[in-house]
Amino acid sequence: MNDAPTRSLPDDAAAVSEAAAGAVLTIDLGAIRENYRRLKASLGGVRCAGVVKADGYGLGARQVALALAREGCDIFFVALLAEGIALRKAIGDGPEIYVLNGLPPGSEPEAVSSGLCAVVNSGTQLKAWRAAAHSVGRRLPAAIQVDSGMSRLGMAPAEVEAIAADAAAFDGIGIRYVMSHLACADEPRHPANEQQRLAFERLRAMLPEAPASLANSSGIFLGPSYHYDLARPGAALYGINPTPDKPNPMLPVVRLQAKVAQTRSVGKGAGIGYGHTYRADGPLGLATISFGYADGWLRRSASAAWFEGTRLPFLGRVSMDSIILDISALPPGRLREGDLVELLGPSQSVDDAAGHAGTIGYEILASLGSRFHRHYLRG
Ligand SMILES: *Cc1c(COP(=O)(O)O)cnc(C)c1O
Repeated sequence: MNDAPTRSLPDDAAAVSEAAAGAVLTIDLGAIRENYRRLKASLGGVRCAGVVKADGYGLGARQVALALAREGCDIFFVALLAEGIALRKAIGDGPEIYVLNGLPPGSEPEAVSSGLCAVVNSGTQLKAWRAAAHSVGRRLPAAIQVDSGMSRLGMAPAEVEAIAADAAAFDGIGIRYVMSHLACADEPRHPANEQQRLAFERLRAMLPEAPASLANSSGIFLGPSYHYDLARPGAALYGINPTPDKPNPMLPVVRLQAKVAQTRSVGKGAGIGYGHTYRADGPLGLATISFGYADGWLRRSASAAWFEGTRLPFLGRVSMDSIILDISALPPGRLREGDLVELLGPSQSVDDAAGHAGTIGYEILASLGSRFHRHYLRG
């Protein structure tokens, strides 16, 4: 019952063995570290955090944070308090961890006991953090988030003005950063970027002087006027192109391969998959892979797998645990049960897969399921 030994997460792989898994996810921590170095180089001397929300964009917040820490990264952002508590346990004391979505009312003591920094998004949250500081009898660290024009999180201009007029507003609060988030940073010519930057300037001028943070991954590539004192990249660390209209300056990080569960040949007229949404217009070679929408591959996203440079289109519907591939382009017998085909990797980048699925790389990564064999390369 309660006397079970506490199990620490295995270091190199999650509990699913390669032999037992339907798919293998390989995460190149060396590439993540190189991407961090590249972003740092673009930033000159500006500090660079690591955004590891949503379990490190699906790739493992603990492993990613520890890899980044080895590059000297000592400030991390998560979205939720629960993620912050878990990350603190995983990486130990020392690095700053900020909770982007703010602290839910009443949760402040939990955040304090895990040594987390609040991102304060409203006057109410500021008051609650101040009260928490008062009750523990010391200053508590915070980033004050202002809404410079995305209308998502952070204090609206009127709220910033009201707080600026209150001399006691920041009693007990150590303002580490004033921050904001860009809505259109991946579109460098979008006028909202400069509008937000100017709004950010106006808002931070009303607040006590503190270091500033504005840029996400794409924001870094908008140029030095967007860098301020701290950048907050996520996607680019994971190999997603932060400059979608240009070649990707980042290294790829993930490889996802699914196992062939069975191969077969069918004749003309065979109905393929649920609903028979595909019907063979001639003899076909098929392979069924152990990978489906339960693994995060959206049912609506038509796509393909790859084997040794050959494209193997999906046929019919994506099932929960399987997808049927057309392998007619391969020599008969070439693909066998247990072989791995590639879904993400050198033949199909995360951004390619996202393009085919009508979505963004972020969603592809964040949707990745939990039943893969995970293999971490250290680089
Ligand atoms: C997710 C997020 C980031 C990181 O954004 P990327 O586009 O993944 O680099 C930075 N700041 C905030 C506030 C975020 O929500």
